[in-house]
Amino acid sequence: MILFIHRKDLRTYDLPAFDLIQAAGDRSLHVLILEPFLLRNGRHLEHSGINFLTHVARLQEEYAREGKLLHILYGEPEVIVGKLSQIHPIDLVITHNDYTPYALKRDRLLSDTAAGLGIRFLSCQDSMLCDHNDFMEWSGRNEPFKVFTPFYRRWRSFLAERFRPPYTARLQQLDTASLDAEAVAEFRLPEEITRQLSQLTLSARSMSPGLILDDFLQTELQYYQVARDKYAQQGTSMISRHLNTGAISVRTIYSRLTEDGRSGEDWLRQLGWRDFYLYQARVDPDFFSYEKVYDLSALSTDHFAAWSSGNTGIPVIDAAMRQLNETGWMPNRLRMITAMFLTKNLGCPFIYGERYFRLKLKDYDNVLNRGGWLWSSSLGYDASPYFRVMNPVTQSQTHDPDGSYIRAWLPELSGLSDKEIHLPRPEAIVDLKRSRALAIETYKEILRGTPDVISG
Ligand SMILES: Cc1cc2nc3c(=O)[nH]c(=O)nc-3n(C[C@H](O)[C@H](O)[C@H](O)COP(=O)(O)OP(=O)(O)OC[C@H]3O[C@@H](n4cnc5c(N)ncnc54)[C@H](O)[C@@H]3O)c2cc1C
Repeated sequence: MILFIHRKDLRTYDLPAFDLIQAAGDRSLHVLILEPFLLRNGRHLEHSGINFLTHVARLQEEYAREGKLLHILYGEPEVIVGKLSQIHPIDLVITHNDYTPYALKRDRLLSDTAAGLGIRFLSCQDSMLCDHNDFMEWSGRNEPFKVFTPFYRRWRSFLAERFRPPYTARLQQLDTASLDAEAVAEFRLPEEITRQLSQLTLSARSMSPGLILDDFLQTELQYYQVARDKYAQQGTSMISRHLNTGAISVRTIYSRLTEDGRSGEDWLRQLGWRDFYLYQARVDPDFFSYEKVYDLSALSTDHFAAWSSGNTGIPVIDAAMRQLNETGWMPNRLRMITAMFLTKNLGCPFIYGERYFRLKLKDYDNVLNRGGWLWSSSLGYDASPYFRVMNPVTQSQTHDPDGSYIRAWLPELSGLSDKEIHLPRPEAIVDLKRSRALAIETYKEILRGTPDVISG
């Protein structure tokens, strides 16, 4: 019997694991484990946790619709596997892999536990568009790509030659088995989460990642290049919250994008950035520890509270933080502007902003979020140069000339003229010019001594 553990793959089609289970022709137990660590500090009540649980509720419904069994358990994965293997004749555990330090440690533990029980453990690649190992072998490089453009060129050629189309096994073709009732009781979800899942079922039902993608490809893709930074009108796909929970796979996205010879180079480039960060998480040994590689002690958290609550007195920053806090969404351009403002103008270590986004973003992803924060604070491969400090006022004037985004999120400023609305308020907590100059000096100092990392 096979034990399949769902993770950031909350869907029932185009799953590498399903193809393997079907090929084995064996019965399978399907579980999704909510790990205490991942739900810590009230995460389930924040936008990122709510998004994940909404997708869990949706997956539960999909299984039920197909008349198949999915068990949602709460506990440590290795303990659960240990217990289940005493009750069920499990000889193979399959899952899809993840690359954060937490996930790697968890999977080592899981794999050791399985080995100790004489069970095979298989972790399949699912999240990247190009399979990491195949790409490394095909590109024939000993050194990792540290700059996006050369990476992207090779990545495009790789996909043109070797794109691995979506997996074909369907849930209804699998013979799912039922878990022992005692085990289900032992790893029962906390009441609060069970209640929340049932409350989320309604909104989960109305969510359709496939339709969102099709709508975008048919009607908005053609305008993407000009619309993507005009954040007052929503000009991007908003597929990230579904992609990051695995409710839709990146292979499905790529195959829909490229079918019928559609041209979507600018959009594909963004999917290229996504793979570039996932790639870095594997090849850059410092990716998850830049805060330890560099001495960030010259930075300070004094203004973090004003930034996170949207009280800096810089209208575009406060409007963006208000949108994030209320809705869990912030367009990409504003993520760059607010992140750079926090790390450079306010001189705050990036990890504070990273942690805040982890809770607040609906589409939170541990690798992409870290990648975005590293980029903004001039750390890591192909980051923005230390002397680049976006001016939030100029950015606002360029991308939202009539200030309609600010008017929507800061109605108290809606009486101001198109010219005035972008300008710092009298109570602004920082002088943009002076803080920019100081940031350049400070980051130059921080980055001094490890030129290898900044030169890419
Ligand atoms: C500080 C900061 C934090 C970020 N945190 C996250 C995060 O937690 N989760 C997340 O998914 N993205 C994050 N991003 C990247 C980007 O902002 C989002 O992917 C994008 O806004 C999602 O909107 P969309 O799906 O409409 O994107 P579209 O513009 O429609 O792009 C399609 C897809 O391409 C990928 N993509 C787009 N822009 C980027 C980018 N700059 N870097 C990497 N991949 C990209 C995403 O998977 C996205 O869904 C962050 C960026 C910054 C600057």
